[in-house]
Amino acid sequence: MSSDQKNGKQSTNDDLYASNDLSVSLPKSRIPETEHDPRHAYAAVRDELMLDGNSRQNLATFCQTWVEPEIEQLMTDCIGKNMVDKDEYPQTAEIEERCVHMLAHLWNSPAGDSTVGTSTVGSSEAAMLGGLAMKRRWEAKRKAAGKSTDKPNLITGPVQICWHKFTRYWDIEHREIPMEAGRQLMTPEEVLSRCDENTIGVVPTMGVTFTCQYEPVKAVAEALDQLQADKGLDIPIHVDGASGGFIAPFCAPQLEWDFTIPRVKSINTSGHKFGLSPLGVGWVVWREMEDLPEDLVFWVNYLGGNMRDIALNFSRPGGQVVCQYYNFLRLGMDGYKKVHSACYDTAEYLASELKKFDLFEMIYDGDRSVGIPALCWKLKEGTDPGFTLYGLAERLNARGWQVPAYSLPANQESVVIQRILVRHGVSRDLASLLIKDIQAAIEHFQLHPEPKHIAEEHNSGFHH
Ligand SMILES: *Cc1c(COP(=O)(O)O)cnc(C)c1O
Repeated sequence: MSSDQKNGKQSTNDDLYASNDLSVSLPKSRIPETEHDPRHAYAAVRDELMLDGNSRQNLATFCQTWVEPEIEQLMTDCIGKNMVDKDEYPQTAEIEERCVHMLAHLWNSPAGDSTVGTSTVGSSEAAMLGGLAMKRRWEAKRKAAGKSTDKPNLITGPVQICWHKFTRYWDIEHREIPMEAGRQLMTPEEVLSRCDENTIGVVPTMGVTFTCQYEPVKAVAEALDQLQADKGLDIPIHVDGASGGFIAPFCAPQLEWDFTIPRVKSINTSGHKFGLSPLGVGWVVWREMEDLPEDLVFWVNYLGGNMRDIALNFSRPGGQVVCQYYNFLRLGMDGYKKVHSACYDTAEYLASELKKFDLFEMIYDGDRSVGIPALCWKLKEGTDPGFTLYGLAERLNARGWQVPAYSLPANQESVVIQRILVRHGVSRDLASLLIKDIQAAIEHFQLHPEPKHIAEEHNSGFHH
């Protein structure tokens, strides 16, 4: 209790912002000594959140930023449920199981009803589990053949940071295929040139972080088949389907990338990206039961029976998993296809509008057989529009839009691109407003070109 309160100066009728609590600045580095009125504490916290970016205008994120009111309700209904307490919340555990089998069928597992998988906090945890399973299977084969297991390596294209974490945390050599001029993805040839007896697996990505395109899973699998026929090396594939796992089955059903390819042993995806669930859920599913090494499994008690616990974390929220199941029921195959198709249409609209400025060269324009609902571009070579893409990003930010500019990874660091993710809720109308703001920004730079030293700082990798 503050001294003023002790003096009886505080009343429940006090105006919120004229109250004793909110007429001072609240502590920032130490827990306060005394309690605060919940209305006051809430107002202070809520107001501080205004300083964050507006998530709906964040066109950098792959993650879900709009949900139906029923999802908000289910999240509230589930606030006390812990995913790990399968015995206490058996129905939530059952719902998780159903989601695993629905995904297994969606991805054409030959054993969709019986195969194994788990929900996770996101694709990163799911990728760790898929990667660990590959490492264990490789170790078991090597030990059985009396060979060493001290030099495992993993082959990927230009990947999301979670695979850097996986290889670093578990002491695995990361053979990451760098980009080259005109090539942003892995190719079968680049994969084969890195394979040896210590390769635990190959990870193609369905929706590469940098350019949003699909890597050629089928062609890589065929090359690995040939490698096995020629040299006896049997190297499995794990597909990082963080985005694409929830998109390709609906919008590019002709693509072969999933368990229809026997060499694909596991797949991860993010429920909170194009799975349309709230932040905090990912999935990993193995092709068949035998593809998950038994020593990664912990058995937990469940209604007198036994259930697998595979996730790395112990306690986890259950609401996101329940909402995933809600989405499956709510949308069905048709609904997912409609939602994602609307996003592709908007991505194509944005790409065609951007082309009209005659300043940008599209790297990926939202073609649904090539990648996820997104687009990315660079400045046309040989043009000097008076701005860099970093400058354009900053200018758009003044209107609340977050349209990131960044340089590509090795070996294309000198190429700066800008990217938009078109998610559920990035409507055609919002997209048209963004185009108007881009036009206004371009006109601004025509009158006031970005000063040369700022453009140079930007392009040398310095950004705010
Ligand atoms: C987002 C992403 C990840 C990481 O997923 P989280 O759900 O954020 O942990 C991994 N790989 C790819 C290709 C991604 O797009």
